[in-house]
Amino acid sequence: MTELYELTIHEAGTLLRQRKISSVELTQAHLDRIRAVDPKVKAFTLVTDELALQQAKEADRRIASGTQLAPLTGIPLAIKDVICTKGITTTCGSRMLENFKPPFDATTMKHLHAAGIVMVGKTNMDEFAMGSSTEHSAFFPTHNPWDLERTPGGSSGGSAATVAAGMAMGAYGSDTGGSIRQPGALCNVLGLKPTYGRVSRYGLVAFGSSLDQIGPFARDAHDIALLLQAIAGPDACDSTSSPQPVPDYSVALTGSIKGMRIGVPEEYWVEGTQPGVVKAVREDIETLRTLGAQVSDVSLPSTKYGVAAYYIIAPAEASANLARYDGVKYGYSYRDTDDMWESMEKSRQYGFGQEVKRRIMLGTYALSSGYYDAYYKQAEKVRSLIRQDFEKAFERFDALVSPTSPTVAFKIGEISDPYQMYLSDVFTIPANLAGICGISIPGGFSAGLPVGLQLLGNAFKEDVILRIAHAFEKVTDYHKRWPTAI
Ligand code: GLN
Repeated sequence: MTELYELTIHEAGTLLRQRKISSVELTQAHLDRIRAVDPKVKAFTLVTDELALQQAKEADRRIASGTQLAPLTGIPLAIKDVICTKGITTTCGSRMLENFKPPFDATTMKHLHAAGIVMVGKTNMDEFAMGSSTEHSAFFPTHNPWDLERTPGGSSGGSAATVAAGMAMGAYGSDTGGSIRQPGALCNVLGLKPTYGRVSRYGLVAFGSSLDQIGPFARDAHDIALLLQAIAGPDACDSTSSPQPVPDYSVALTGSIKGMRIGVPEEYWVEGTQPGVVKAVREDIETLRTLGAQVSDVSLPSTKYGVAAYYIIAPAEASANLARYDGVKYGYSYRDTDDMWESMEKSRQYGFGQEVKRRIMLGTYALSSGYYDAYYKQAEKVRSLIRQDFEKAFERFDALVSPTSPTVAFKIGEISDPYQMYLSDVFTIPANLAGICGISIPGGFSAGLPVGLQLLGNAFKEDVILRIAHAFEKVTDYHKRWPTAI
C-alpha cells in the first residue's frame, strides 16, 4: 500500500475532498516521516508541528463544510526560511536573523494561508540564499536523501530535500541564479523558477532584487502547476510584479507536445559537464523527439559570459540589500560597546558568514566609483546580450532544453574553491539574467544519483514548459523513484 507521504498533492487533494483521508492524518504522516528521516537529512531549521496540526484541523473543517476549498487546502508544505512568516522565525540561514520573527507574512504566505495549506516547517538554506550546496547555512548542512554524504544542492537545498524525502508534499524556495532548479535536479524533484514578476517578492528577504523569484518544488508537473497557481499574480506591495493575466496552468497539461519546437543550446554542453549527465540528457532529448517535438540546435552566443556577469550583478544588488543589517533595527546586534560605529561593525562581523561577506565586498567594489563602469555597467551590457540571445531563440522555439547542472550531487566539503561552486549555476544563471522561466525535472540517473533536465520558456510561458514536463513524465518514471539512502 502507498504510504500517505508518497502521494502527490493532486492525488491527496482528491482523497481529501472525497473524505477518504483527513488533513490531520495526512499531516501526521508527514510529521512522523520528518521525525523518522530528518535527523539524517536535516532539511528543516524549524518544524512547526503544533501549528501544522492546528491548520490541518481547520482544513478538515473547511472540507467538511465544503466552503473555501482550494486545491491546496489541507496539504502539508514546507517553506524556505527566506520567506517571511508572521510570528515564526525566519532565519535566512544566518546568525544575523537567528531570532528574527517577522511582524508580517510574505504575500506568498498570505495566498497560501487563504488556500488553507498546512505548513510543516521552515527549511534550511545557504545563508541569504548565497550558495549552491546548503553548506553555507550558519546552522548545519543539509544532506542529500539519495546519498547522505552529499549535498542536496542549494541554496534551497532544504526545500528540495523535504520533498524528495516525503517530509512535505511540496515546498517553496527562491531562485536568484539557480537555487530552485539546481537542488531540484540534485534531489530528483521538479523545481520551477517563474518568470521575473510572475510571483510577488514582497516578504521574500532580498538578495538580488532584479533576479529573485519564489517558486515551487514538487514530485510531478501537475503539482507544480497547482503550487504556482496559488501564488502567481500581481501584488500592490511589489511594483515589479506583473499585471499579465495568470492562465490556468492545469489546462496546459494536455499530454501532447506534438509539433512543439524545442531548441538545444549548443553552448550548454560545456567542458566540465560530467559524461553521465550528458548521456542522460541526450537520452531525454531523444525521448522528447519520440513524443513528436521538433528538436534542433540553437546558438546562444553570450552564454559564456553569464556566470561572470551574474557574479557582478548579484553581489552588487546584495551589497545594497544587506546594508540594512546594521544591528540597529532588527537582527543580531552587538551591544557590548558605547560606540555606534563599533556596534554596527561588530554586528556585521559576527552576524554574517564568510560567503555573505565575500559577496558584500565583491558587490561594494563593483559599485565603487572608478570601477562602476568597468564592472557593473559592463555586466549590465552582457545581461542585455543574454536577453537578446533568448529573444531571438524564442522567435524560432517554444522552449529550450539543457542539463540543469553540470554535475550530479557532490560530496559535502568537496568543493572548497568558491569559484568552482559558482560554476554549478552555469546553466541556470542565464534565465535569471534574462528574466525568463525555467524548470528542472527528473531526467535520469548517473551512477545512482539524479540528473536534472532543464526546460527554459519565454517570459510568462510557464504553461509551455509545464506541458513539456508533464508529457515527458508520462513516458518516464524517474520522478517516481524514491531516494535510497533514508
Ligand atoms: N548559487 C547561486 C549563488 O550563490 C544562486 C543562488 C540563488 O539562486 N539564490 O548566488
